Amino acid sequence: MEKQCLSSYTLQQLTALMKELGQPTFRAKQIFHWLHQKLVVDFSAMTDQPKALLAKLEERFYLANPTIQRKQQSKDGTVKYLFRLADGNCIETVLMRYHYGNTVCVSTQVGCRMGCRFCASTQAGRVRNLEAGEIASEIYAVQKDTGERVSHIVLMGIGEPLDNFENVMDFLEIISCADGVNIGMRNISLSTCGVVPQIDRLAEKKLQLTLSVSLHAPNNTMRSSMMPVNDAYSVEELIDACRRYQKTTGRRISFEYSMVRGVNDTAETARQLANLIRGMGAHVNLIPINPVDGSPYSASDAENVKRFQSLLTQMGVNATVRRRLGSDISAACGQLRREEATKEDKA
Ligand code: SAH
Repeated sequence: MEKQCLSSYTLQQLTALMKELGQPTFRAKQIFHWLHQKLVVDFSAMTDQPKALLAKLEERFYLANPTIQRKQQSKDGTVKYLFRLADGNCIETVLMRYHYGNTVCVSTQVGCRMGCRFCASTQAGRVRNLEAGEIASEIYAVQKDTGERVSHIVLMGIGEPLDNFENVMDFLEIISCADGVNIGMRNISLSTCGVVPQIDRLAEKKLQLTLSVSLHAPNNTMRSSMMPVNDAYSVEELIDACRRYQKTTGRRISFEYSMVRGVNDTAETARQLANLIRGMGAHVNLIPINPVDGSPYSASDAENVKRFQSLLTQMGVNATVRRRLGSDISAACGQLRREEATKEDKA
């Protein structure tokens, strides 16, 4: 029997497991503390647990324990990790130091199958989903490596979080649990390329997190040329889903808009974008695209980004230009993992 990841169990699931094993249920909370507060990665470290129970658990389960394969430090304090997982797969995690606290950008899948034309993470497709505990362990590993507390999380690394729905929901429950590291939902952002049915499913959970939608273009011709997901769910369907999401959750969403020279950065495009989302109270994050190998796109220049921003503002849409952290260490998602894969291919 293949071992399961015990780090992926929510407190509720652990409680059910203890019942199944004929154990008192208080053990669930104790084990949860060990895994998600004391961040141990070894069964033998849980010193208040009966040896027989630990042995039984170890037969059936493993603990998420990513190892640092590579680490790059940017001049601006950003740190990028390439973690190796138990099965040998690699994922990327980024630590960003903001004035309001340390933010970790986590991967949710090994690779991605969404196919966005500007993105390095998707070029070799999706290998597998990450387990809830593997996603949490990205944060724990960063915390342990730096000795600094992580206060904010963005699900903006490799993978499409809504394409790994169940595991991502369990991850959110684990990471925001008062018996774990207790990171509040309001400090968490989840980014999606726009998988409409899953946005509706997420809305029903009524979580207090921030939903970021990677819009990148205000019309179907332009968006489909950049993002194949748009062939499945059009711009209109996506915006409708965003409105439903806001209504159901009472939370404003934000739009990601990566700016590509000569593709989505003209004054006419700004006008279309403003017409599309005006009145939603949504926020637009503008960022020049980070050019990746094998992609035809280059970044809009800073002046054009500024102009685009002021056009949006004039037309009643709230927009900010995001600082590009870690650009000296190829911190755009997927680039480090690809380098590693290419290296291994050559070896
Ligand atoms: N799959 C999710 C989250 C991961 S990508 C999503 O699509 O939202 C996180 C953000 O980075 C998305 O807005 C994505 O469109 C953007 N992105 C990906 N590659 C990029 C690049 N090379 N330059 C700028 N933004 C990029």
